[in-house]
Amino acid sequence: MSATLNTAEKIFSEVPSVITKEEALEILDGTLSLTSCLDRAFQERNRYYGNKVRIHILDNIKNGHCPEDCGYCAQRKNANSGVQEYPMKSETEIYEDAVKAKENGAYRFCMVTSGTGPNRPTTEKLASTIRKITDDLGLKVCLSAGLLDEDKAQLLKAAGLDRYNHNLNTSQNHYPEICDTHTYAQRAETLGSVSKAGIGMCSGVIVGMGETLRDLVDVAFELKSFRVISIPVNFFIPVKGHAIKNPSVLTPELCVRILCLFRLVNPDSEIRIAAGREGHLRSLSATALFAANSLFSSGYLNVKGSDMVETIGMIRDAGFVPELADGGVLPEDSEMEALYSEKNFPELYKFKKSLKS
Ligand code: SF4
Repeated sequence: MSATLNTAEKIFSEVPSVITKEEALEILDGTLSLTSCLDRAFQERNRYYGNKVRIHILDNIKNGHCPEDCGYCAQRKNANSGVQEYPMKSETEIYEDAVKAKENGAYRFCMVTSGTGPNRPTTEKLASTIRKITDDLGLKVCLSAGLLDEDKAQLLKAAGLDRYNHNLNTSQNHYPEICDTHTYAQRAETLGSVSKAGIGMCSGVIVGMGETLRDLVDVAFELKSFRVISIPVNFFIPVKGHAIKNPSVLTPELCVRILCLFRLVNPDSEIRIAAGREGHLRSLSATALFAANSLFSSGYLNVKGSDMVETIGMIRDAGFVPELADGGVLPEDSEMEALYSEKNFPELYKFKKSLKS
């Protein structure tokens, strides 16, 4: 039996920016106080997403063997990073991962493949997998598979794909500094194909790759011009084998300011705290939820991972609630909530349990 999807979710951002480029720079350079930035960002976050937080779980369905040379990526050609390489997982393996993600409280299941882009047979295989996950599990699915033309985008749309991820990564101006095997224009064309097929666009950035504050402002407004509805904000991790010439120093406060910037330029978009949360935002992770309404949990797919348990605890502690794919919220007496309490506050957990029995 098919589960019910929350169909109210928008495909395009519809709300104009609430700040100018000059104000955006003042957020980043510290002219505006952090509390005033957070206050303004929270007003917009609250208007469109209330107190809900969406938890996304990534599944790398194919790793390595990539001919591209994205400087930030451990899977780029000639990286010698020692990253584990494997061909695309079978449909059964991916489906089992999706089942576990759903059990772990995921709002959306994000499948990621390495490589320039899928050929036709691979696109058909992906479409079949997407159809099974959406029909059987009612889970929203996002795919990140590289450059895509309109025909392939239509095929994925017909299979029920909810979102396609293709990050702009950085500003048009800075793009040649991070990759020389494909262009910013090719990335923009893929966003155009996804948009024409009627799939929600997920496109974000990687912050900390030597860009200026102006570049960050520019890419926030470039994403606005594409009306991108989902914006993952990654904070660069200098992985072994990367080729970024001068990575930037990011402070937790600057990371929060950057999330405020993306919220205020893209008020109704889903702003997601993505890679680098733990290392760059550190103790300000919960504070960042006052601007962002979504995050990745690196929770393991094979067990109920401690990362997921900690993530749910952090969300609750900050006064927010984890949102489920059907638009509801994770109940406080769920198995994940119990795991959180039992692991972190065993005495309190036993006490509360004794009250219930
Ligand atoms: S195309 Fe994807 S997998 Fe390949 S180098 Fe770029 S980011 Fe890495």
